Amino acid sequence: MQKIILKLTSIFLLFTFILITFSGCIKTANNQQSNNESQADKVATKTTGKIKIGLSIDDLRLERWQHDRDIFVQRAKQLGADVLVQSANGDSQTQYSQSQNLIAQGVDVLVIIPHDGQAIAPIVDQAHKAGIKVLAYDRLINNADVDYYVSFDNVRVGELQAQAITKLKPKGRYFLLEGSPTDNNAKLFEKGQKKVLQPLIDKGDIKIVGEQWAKDWSTQEAYNIMQNALTANNNKIDAVVAANDSTALGAVRALEEQGLAGKVPISGQDADLANCQLIVEGKQTMTVYKPIAQEATKGAEIAVALAKGEKVATNGKVNNGKIDVPSILLTPIAVDKGNMYDTIIKDGFHKLEDVYRNVPKDQWPK
Ligand code: BGC
Repeated sequence: MQKIILKLTSIFLLFTFILITFSGCIKTANNQQSNNESQADKVATKTTGKIKIGLSIDDLRLERWQHDRDIFVQRAKQLGADVLVQSANGDSQTQYSQSQNLIAQGVDVLVIIPHDGQAIAPIVDQAHKAGIKVLAYDRLINNADVDYYVSFDNVRVGELQAQAITKLKPKGRYFLLEGSPTDNNAKLFEKGQKKVLQPLIDKGDIKIVGEQWAKDWSTQEAYNIMQNALTANNNKIDAVVAANDSTALGAVRALEEQGLAGKVPISGQDADLANCQLIVEGKQTMTVYKPIAQEATKGAEIAVALAKGEKVATNGKVNNGKIDVPSILLTPIAVDKGNMYDTIIKDGFHKLEDVYRNVPKDQWPK
């Protein structure tokens, strides 16, 4: 009897084993099939479906990036692509998780304007693992295998700023108001400024009385920095090289409170409306206009080309600490009162009546 039970048990076990193995095979085959299907689906969307671009923006609260977003989205639409836009509102961690989210949503290409070029770097590998190419837009992503970079010649921006100010004040006590320490561009602007300033410093014509970096390019931070610098120097500051318009705005406010606006030359960048107004009113010396339409249009075109697996024509390389990133670098333009009309207004970047709002009408350019 015991023998029969033993025999029956072993037959049952053998049968169960065969059943499990067989169903396992079916399951694996099914999984394989569904994997193949999802791969096929992906390929199908890539070739026939609508292209999805993920655009991760550092901070849409700054006027400049709203222009970029609008033009980028418009051009992408013309090319038949959808853009998923995210703003990290100046926070590295938020930008990191938003980018991961865009990857998870299956975008075909990821375009990033990094808040912190270093902190966002691991996203590039994650995107690549998902078969997604990464375009660094305006600001470089450091120490990562970024596929492409589109921007302006940022060292040139710094040169234009310092050239304009030294032309008005070839000698004197200079204050340098730099941008966000986490933005690679801020370092390039400083590099360009110093290229122009260093020989004059060496000659003893220019003395740098202070240099400070404004966190997140904040206007409030720039105001505080300028106010403290004026106090520390008993208002004896002859010129300010400010890295962009949002920081120049804060600095001009601080100068204004001391009755110095219009007396102390100050630079900027971006041609923000408020700063163009300050320029025609004589309170800010210059700004650097970077035709955003060119950059955003190019950016959208590159993104679509990458999504289609096409090659992109470049005109330079920028080293990011790990590789020389194939780059498309556009040309910045210095703008002051004299050429405001022929650049900003003629380009349709701002309207004449907006820029000249605070200037008597008989002084408007005809
Ligand atoms: C851009 C500037 C801008 C600044 C603050 C920089 O990376 O190149 O145009 O003013 O960021 O947003």
